[in-house]
Amino acid sequence: MSLSIADAIRQAEVPDSDTPELDKEVLLCHVLNKDRAYLFTWPERILEQSQYDAFSILLERRNNGEPIAYLTGVREFWSLPLKVHPSTLIPRPDTERLVEVALELLPNKPTNVVDLGTGTGAIALALASERPLWSVMGIDQSEEAVELAKDNARINDLDRVAFKVGSWCEGLNPDSVDLMVSNPPYIAETDPHLSQGDVRFEPLSALVAAQNGLSDIVDIAQQSRVCLRLQGWLIVEHGFEQASDVRQIFKDCDYRDVTSYQDLSGNDRVTVG
Ligand code: GLN
Repeated sequence: MSLSIADAIRQAEVPDSDTPELDKEVLLCHVLNKDRAYLFTWPERILEQSQYDAFSILLERRNNGEPIAYLTGVREFWSLPLKVHPSTLIPRPDTERLVEVALELLPNKPTNVVDLGTGTGAIALALASERPLWSVMGIDQSEEAVELAKDNARINDLDRVAFKVGSWCEGLNPDSVDLMVSNPPYIAETDPHLSQGDVRFEPLSALVAAQNGLSDIVDIAQQSRVCLRLQGWLIVEHGFEQASDVRQIFKDCDYRDVTSYQDLSGNDRVTVG
């Protein structure tokens, strides 16, 4: 069978996706190792059988619900290309809000920053890319995530960002951190959202927390008191209905100036203390 690029895209079907055309184009680009402009410049180019087969397999996986980012192995965050892997959450645009808030609050002067549950390293690397004077460390309990985050640091010329395996603040020195950031698991076990879409393929350990999704935020807020300096900042992402609970958790841990910030959809998504 000899099919052109245009034929292959026309024939392909991704019925359950919200973005079928984009999905097809992104997957074919991944197979051809080209950008999207190539598809429109050479629509009549005939695909090799092996390319067509590889495209068909990716389409089938997509139609089984696998997220595009796991199929291509990359996702952009804060304009940084990041490798992703099923051992980590796929970085989301909403999390860029946390990065923005941190950058609004703290200038480029020597600052010790820790990103708890760093996953791909997205937040740590985005902050380091904007603040050359900050010392940034990402911590994750998953060894695979830490290896991936180190790769992402290399790919983006941000090797000065350190990554280590650990559980939240374990092993951090008392009074040593100026800024602690985290996008922890915050979805309740019973949330129906967990059986829909991309999250079905993401690690539950990065998504779900006990106590209605709040237990990890409680642990982080409590543990942070020891390693954070007196004038330090804690910034966490959370679910949009959790903002008032999270503010109370921060206040119970003696945080001051506790404020929530909205994401792109106007929902409270990030709380600072
Ligand atoms: N915001 C993500 C979602 O709703 C969850 C991220 C997280 O648990 N940290 O899919």
